[in-house]
Amino acid sequence: MKTLYTIIFSIFFSFANAQIFTDTTQKYIPLIIDSSINNVIKNKSYPYKDSKPTTKGIDDYVSEQSVTVIFDFDYFFKVESDDVDFVTDNINKYKENNENDTQFPTIESNIELGNYDLVGNYITITNEEKYLDYSLKTINKKKISDIAQSNKFVRSVMIHEYVHAYMKQIILELRMNNIKIEKEYYAQFYESIGSTFIEEGISEYCSSEMGELINSKIEFIPKTEREILDKINRYDIFYKYSSIYVRDFLRKNGLKKGIQILVTNKPPTIEEIITPYKFFFRLNF
Ligand SMILES: [Zn+2]
Repeated sequence: MKTLYTIIFSIFFSFANAQIFTDTTQKYIPLIIDSSINNVIKNKSYPYKDSKPTTKGIDDYVSEQSVTVIFDFDYFFKVESDDVDFVTDNINKYKENNENDTQFPTIESNIELGNYDLVGNYITITNEEKYLDYSLKTINKKKISDIAQSNKFVRSVMIHEYVHAYMKQIILELRMNNIKIEKEYYAQFYESIGSTFIEEGISEYCSSEMGELINSKIEFIPKTEREILDKINRYDIFYKYSSIYVRDFLRKNGLKKGIQILVTNKPPTIEEIITPYKFFFRLNF
């Protein structure tokens, strides 16, 4: 009996070994080449004016770094995502319309330095000279200690917007497998406070996990509906509190699975935004 086990085990082990071997030969070599190119591009320096990234520098950074942003994103979260085009523009010129729009979910372009075009499937990063730096990794350490909180880094905005695109990829994949997605997550017309809250939270969570955000020491936690609806708190609620809200859940389930669960469940109500456990408790998966 013992011999039989040994034989079975050896056969299994040789298969397992062969499998590992093929995997490493197939993936390991391209990975080494990719990471070295990745590092060369990533460490390239870009111009500053008054210690801020210049428009020309931002244009170059976005066009040259988009590949490394996607590579790093996949590597960090252990996912396989599809490429998306990145372009630059001065998105400030579109803001006037949004300022007059009182519908809640349009907060996106008012606060963000980029946007994702769902229909065209491309990302626009603003090339206005108002970033603190190209990446939090390149910023002067002393400068960091003077900043209370910020997501004003070109790379941080690129990651944030890319996550919106990645969410769309997951939604399409689920729909192709006939899995029901809550309409708030795929039809812009139905977007709600809860779905916007979750989507922005996931995007900011990813930038933060990848070390491209300066998080504030004091975390703002809303306690009333009024606080959530107050426009003054938009950034604190939809970009800061939301990322903390989804953090443990995404860390526990992994990014892809976490998104799959979130988009197949009704987004949180205002009451559930205030009391997270009520939301996470009712999720089906
Ligand atoms: Zn966003």
